Amino acid sequence: YFVPPEMEAQIVQGTLVNVSFGKNSHYSGIVSNIRDNPPENLQNIKPVLTVESERSILRPTQLRFWEWLSGYYLCSVGEVFKAVVPAGRMEAYSPKTELFVRLSPSYSSMDAVNEVFEYLKKSPKQEHLLLSFFQFSRIVGNSREISRKELLDRSFSSASILTSLIKKGILETYEKPVSRLQSYSGEIRLLNRLNSFQQHAYNEIVECFKEKSVCLLHGVTASGKTEIYTHLIDETLKSGLQVLYLLPEIALTAQITDRLKLFFGDRMGIYHSKINNHERVEIWNNLLSDNAYEIILGVRSSVFLPFERLGLVIVDEEHEPSYKQQDPAPRYHARNAAIMLANMHGAKTVLGSATPSIESFYNAQTGKYGYVKIEKRFEETELPIVIPVNTKELKRKKKMKTVFSPLLIEKMQTALQAGEQVLLFQNRRGFAPLMSCPICEWTPRCRFCDVSLTYHKNLSRLTCHYCGRTYHLPSECHECGNNELKQIGFGTEKVEEEITELFPDIPIERMDADNTRTKKSLEDIIDRFETGETGILIGTQMISKGLDFEKVSLVGILNADALMNFPDFRAYERAAQLMLQVAGRAGRRKKQGEVILQTSHPDHPLIQSVIQHDYETVYNMQMEERQLFNYPPFCRIIHVNIRHKNEDIVHKIADIYADLLREKLGNRVTGANKPAIGHIQNLHLRRITLKIEIQVSMNTVRTILEETKIRLSAQPDYKSCIIQYDVDPV
Ligand code: ADP
Ligand code: ZN
Ligand code: ZN
Repeated sequence: YFVPPEMEAQIVQGTLVNVSFGKNSHYSGIVSNIRDNPPENLQNIKPVLTVESERSILRPTQLRFWEWLSGYYLCSVGEVFKAVVPAGRMEAYSPKTELFVRLSPSYSSMDAVNEVFEYLKKSPKQEHLLLSFFQFSRIVGNSREISRKELLDRSFSSASILTSLIKKGILETYEKPVSRLQSYSGEIRLLNRLNSFQQHAYNEIVECFKEKSVCLLHGVTASGKTEIYTHLIDETLKSGLQVLYLLPEIALTAQITDRLKLFFGDRMGIYHSKINNHERVEIWNNLLSDNAYEIILGVRSSVFLPFERLGLVIVDEEHEPSYKQQDPAPRYHARNAAIMLANMHGAKTVLGSATPSIESFYNAQTGKYGYVKIEKRFEETELPIVIPVNTKELKRKKKMKTVFSPLLIEKMQTALQAGEQVLLFQNRRGFAPLMSCPICEWTPRCRFCDVSLTYHKNLSRLTCHYCGRTYHLPSECHECGNNELKQIGFGTEKVEEEITELFPDIPIERMDADNTRTKKSLEDIIDRFETGETGILIGTQMISKGLDFEKVSLVGILNADALMNFPDFRAYERAAQLMLQVAGRAGRRKKQGEVILQTSHPDHPLIQSVIQHDYETVYNMQMEERQLFNYPPFCRIIHVNIRHKNEDIVHKIADIYADLLREKLGNRVTGANKPAIGHIQNLHLRRITLKIEIQVSMNTVRTILEETKIRLSAQPDYKSCIIQYDVDPV
């Protein structure tokens, strides 16, 4: 595109513009580069149509970061741009306004004001309101102002009194744009003093940063990693640099926000998926301004914000798979992307976890990252005692009348009587994950996905957890007509129902994806548990993520087996992380907590490691397997996912693509295979898996994939297939 002369002054790298693309479509675009001469042999260069931002909406590092991201994660820069820039949003943005009150111009002199007070002597309520105006309003420019709401609230006056003063021409109201971003009105506190272990760890991190740019902080649950972060943040701010604090999920932001606001107040901004578009734009604009936030606390997409001078990136709970974006592209891993972003800024990265990912642990062991460990909890409370309960045996003896073992019920009674709280963990939502005919074993399945339906008793429906479609409860088996289907397995809803029967007087709540769709509902559940209003909280993996509750003394892991039985090379890693993290919610302050772990394999090595809180053994066992079967961190995995409505077509195209890739990549190519769930949202899926040596550059891989795709495009059905790449899938 060429820049029309009248736009020359406005258009710089990073300006948002509108251009025409194709025959009649118009698109928003970002100016990524400006050149003085058009490239040779290029005809029909079109003009930029309009300029949509007054200045660049980017910081220079951002474009570099996006280019890296699109290169590594095998997508286009445009896909990154689309995902990250609130472009459409910037156009749809409208500032929020509020009604403000000021003196009308004729009363701007002191004399006039004195006169007016004299005049109001007979109307004491109006006099009081005017006095309040002088008392509470702020001087902005050369006049005083206060929001209408604040004035009425603080003067305890009614709107009619204000109206009288307006009618008399003394005060006037006007609309003023205000920020949507919340401001903090509480007191700012000094940082907590670190205890000796924490101070030691802090010093080690600082020391490590002299040589390395990434440090893994491996601290057991409740060792006070968050406190260490606050000290690192404080130091970074003192040197005038910004901090990005990443959290895996919105569930955590409220608690951490409250903790950090105490120390950093309005120097910190919050960015997550549940703030609205207007707020997003305001955060973005704030970061472009001279008055930018010094700290951003946010979820994975915060890596895309326009930071000017990052000094520190904290990736809390770095092992969490939710740092990986699944759909749409860019399918990036926010932890790894954050490390690259930090490098581009010359900043340091702390990865924190009680159960580090195998990849990060490996990088620490090989010396690529620094490694700092804290083995003691704050105030030296012992880690919780984990007691395994053999549910297989109990079932055989007919002692599992509910989903709770007798020991768990007994421990719950004791804890609740002592005024303590209980967390129950079951990583399945709904009532029963499966229905089945006892005679012919028929199971209701989703018509659009290759999965069995989950029974949701609250909805009286069957639900597909892949596409969200719901179905009526079948009144009989569709195969043999038998009129009673049995429920297999159990989810959080069933746990809730059974626990309510056992403890009718205890307030009980559930926290899972079904009842936390809004940020408020989520925060309310956490709040009520924090204040002790709720006695027992049931939850899915949502309750495992770094939440800090003071009075939880007992944690029940209801079905450990279900965590381990996944056909995935990361299943054991993930299961160990989940169990140790949930266990870590028990006994976080003064008193040692207890964990009842229900499983049918109490002797399983993984269960034994959890009982011992021995994450290192889990790591070593996993590393042996990964090396033996060539999995990350010994190679890099790339999935090529091919989708089509028609199974024959997807099968054919995928096989051809795999064979073509094999010509270049040999036995690095596996597949194409039909994954465990081979039909989702009415599309059939085939997957080619590439295992690439770590030292091979992604550029090389990309070239091979693209050249091969060009050869593949000769196939007649190629065009109707959806082909996606997923690098480092989790
Ligand atoms: P982690 O992030 O390692 O799980 P937290 O930082 O949440 O641990 O600490 C656990 C609890 O102990 C928190 O409630 C925290 O406020 C408290 N705590 C930890 N270290 C300190 C400290 N140095 N001073 C005061 N309280 C602390
Ligand atoms: Zn049947
Ligand atoms: Zn479905």
